[in-house]
Formats: sequence, C-alpha cells, structure tokens
Amino acid sequence: ATSVKSYEYVILGGGNAAGYAARQFVEKHGLSGHKLAVISRESVAPYERPALSKAYLTANPPTRLPAFHTCVAGGGAPQTPDWYAKNGIDLLLSTEIVDCDLNSKCLTAKDGSKYGYGKLLIATGSDALHLDELGMQGAHLGGIHYLREIAEADKLYEAMKACAGKHAVVVGGGYIGLECTAALVINGVRVTMVFPEPHVMARLFTPEIAAHYERIYAQKGVNFIKGTVVDSFADENGSGQVKYVRLKNGPVLEADLVVVGVGAKPRTTLLEGALAMEARGIKVDGHLRTSHADVFGAGDVITFPLKMYGNRMARVEHVGHARQSAMHAVDVMMGATTEPYDYLPFFYSRVFHLSWKFWGDTPAQAKTIVVGEMNPKLVAVWIDQDGHVVGTFIESGTEHDENKLKELARTRPKANVARLEEAAAANDVDGFLN
Ligand code: FAD
Repeated sequence: ATSVKSYEYVILGGGNAAGYAARQFVEKHGLSGHKLAVISRESVAPYERPALSKAYLTANPPTRLPAFHTCVAGGGAPQTPDWYAKNGIDLLLSTEIVDCDLNSKCLTAKDGSKYGYGKLLIATGSDALHLDELGMQGAHLGGIHYLREIAEADKLYEAMKACAGKHAVVVGGGYIGLECTAALVINGVRVTMVFPEPHVMARLFTPEIAAHYERIYAQKGVNFIKGTVVDSFADENGSGQVKYVRLKNGPVLEADLVVVGVGAKPRTTLLEGALAMEARGIKVDGHLRTSHADVFGAGDVITFPLKMYGNRMARVEHVGHARQSAMHAVDVMMGATTEPYDYLPFFYSRVFHLSWKFWGDTPAQAKTIVVGEMNPKLVAVWIDQDGHVVGTFIESGTEHDENKLKELARTRPKANVARLEEAAAANDVDGFLN
C-alpha cells in the first residue's frame, strides 16, 4: 500500500490565500519543523496573482518571479521556495490533489501519493470561466486566451508581443477585460472590447464613473461594442487559429488574438458532496470553519458571512479577502482567536496611469454622488436608503484620501446629502472629501 505522509496542517492550494496563510503560521505562530505542507498544482511558489494582468504584461522589462511571490504586497520580502525550506514548510509544487477523503483525513495526488492532515485549510481559489465549457462553437481554437495562472500569462505575453500592430478582441467588460485591454494597448495591439452590459465594470461602476474610464480608453484607440455577446469563433482555411469573432446580432470581427474575461468559477469539485455548499462556494461560518470538523476555508472558494452586513452570505473574488481570510483562518486553526472574521469589502484595479480603489457595499437602491473628472481624482459615494454612506470609491487618491474613504465605508455615518451634492456641483473634490 502507498505510504501516507502526514502533517499537522495542510494548505490545499498555492495561491494568494496559501501564501499569506503560510506566512501567518510562521510569523505569528512560530510554526517550524515540517508540521505544515502547502500543496499546489502550480509549478511555482505562491505569488501575488493580481500582478499577472498588470506589471507582468505591461512593465518594461516585465515583472517576473521571484519579484512578486507572496507576501510582497503585504510589505514583506518575496517568499521564494528557499523561504519555505528555511522555515521547515514542505512546499509540494506541481502536485494536483484529485481526491479528498475527509473522514480518513487523507488527500490523494494525481501521481497516487497520499498526504494526511490534522487540520486542513482549503484554498483552491477559482478558475476562469471557459467558453468551450459552455459549448460555444470555435471556442477551442488557438489564439483564444484566458488569464488565471502564470503559465497562461506567459502564453498571453508571447502572443501579445507577436500581435503588435494587429487586432485583438477582448470579450468581457470587467476588470480582467479592462486590465488586459490596457496591456494590449501598451504593447501596440489595437483592441475591440465586446460585452453585453451598457458600460464597463457594470457590477460596480455607475454610468458616470464608467464614462470617465471609457473616455480614456477611447482616447487610446479602444473600440467598444456594448450590449451584445459573442456567438462563435472561426478560423481561416482550417488553420486552427482564431480569425473571426461572430457577435450575436450578426457582425463578424476579425481578430489575431482573443482574450476572454467573462467571470470565474470557484474550484469546489473535489469537495462536492463532502462539504456544505452555498452560492457555488464552500460554506463556512464566521470562524471560517466548513461543515466538517478540522476543515477550514479561505479566499475565492468560500461563501462566508459578512459580519458588518448582518452576516449576509457572500463569495468574494478579491485579493484583500484572500489575504485576510487566510490569516484569520490560521489564527482560528491555532486556537489564537475566538473573534469572527470581519471583512470590509475592498477592491482595486490599476490600468495605464490610473489606479482606483473601492470599499464597502453597493446596494441596488443606493443613491450615488460622483465628483471630480479624473483630473486627476474622481470620488464617489454610495448612500443607502437610510441615508448612510455605505460604499466609497476613489481614482488616484492620496493615502490620506484613501484612509478617509475606507473609514467612511467601515463606520457608515449619516451622509449630509445636500452638502455632498453642492460640492459635486462645484466639482470640489476636496470639499467633498472633508
Ligand atoms: P488562487 O490565488 O486562485 O489560488 C488557488 C490555488 O490553488 C492555485 O495555485 C491553484 O493552482 C491551486 N489549486 C486549485 N485546485 C487544486 C488542486 N486540486 N490541487 C492542488 N492545487 C490546487 N483581486 C483584486 O482585489 N484586485 C486585482 O487587481 C486583482 N487582479 C487580478 C488579476 C488576475 C489576472 C486574476 C486572475 C485575479 C485578480 N484578482 C484581483 C483576484 C485575486 O487574485 C484572487 O481573489 C485571489 O488570487 C484569490 O486567492 P485564492 O488563494 O483564494 O485563490
């Protein structure tokens, strides 16, 4: 029989949550002596995934590992494989787990090797939604790119360099679409973005905020086709490489390269049937405990109670949550806290010279007030039906501005709507912020 290598703690996954969890075990709890294993399908140690659609594609020279291993964004030094070795953590790379037996507490890898655990942290993240899985015609063709892991970023980078002066179609108007479009433009590729919504970032941006970003993209030559979706892809003369993108309402676009960013799906397959699920994610309680004893979850894969919004259940695909939930889960696993996880939703993106941040909530009925015209700032607030500020947004803010807006989203004070509207009408960003 295959022998089982056993650990007190196992982190399943090697992404953002895994990297920050490993650091928490070492730095806060002093863990050493090969009691912890990090098991990842990827061939490299955990890294800051958001870099893949930013400096990895756009910097000159492009950023490469080891520069952005976790936890550099948290202000630390990059955790290279040496860091894991030095701290007595077994980093098992290129190791895909294909079976999780929670009753015998045993994980089985693709090559048959087996790993036992005392406590397990599930941090398998999410994967890009692939159009071929949805049965779209031609979606298997070469030249159609997705961006989730580093191997995909390498392929996209090469393809982009080979397409300078040519034409790309970007499918999806969310942040992946916007960041990849910016990277393509910076690399000299002409881009058409196609998405069904009336404007970019439709789930977060108000029409006014979106208009400011779209104007800057249009100035850089980006063409938008809104309110429609891709129907199919086709090649030319059986080349196997995408050449045509047919849209639902008829027109056909020519493309030398396609990037698809149409959403993500949590990687839960291994645990279906074994753990309680909610909203497509692994359900955890306020202490990040799953429905099975000694099994915890963090990051994109979990559906968790948002304490500050009356424990409304949510799944969040943002790196701030991956980092904080991972660190909190480790504290719970080590018996170091009885406090529930209390996350203030936070999301950011960077494109061209721009950089925006958002905190809080955007209820459907919220009133929004926007001020500034991106020269250089733009600030927005979301005010709920009871008149409280619940969401805040800033483009190109100073640290002081950002701290203030973060605090407002956290404390949700009553808004002085008349004063805010007055400042907005006068385009007075500083007055608005004060
Ligand atoms: P991941 O980082 O996805 O890690 C999951 C890991 O588990 C991977 O290493 C995967 O290979 C591994 N794994 C999965 N299944 C198995 C298995 N069976 N066996 C072994 N290993 C397995 N968020 C922001 O807030 N701002 C941004 O600007 C931003 N930019 C982004 C840009 C890109 C291109 C992408 C893809 C995401 C971006 N995000 C951003 C989202 C952010 O990166 C994620 O929220 C975060 O990475 C989630 O961390 P995680 O650890 O839960 O999952």
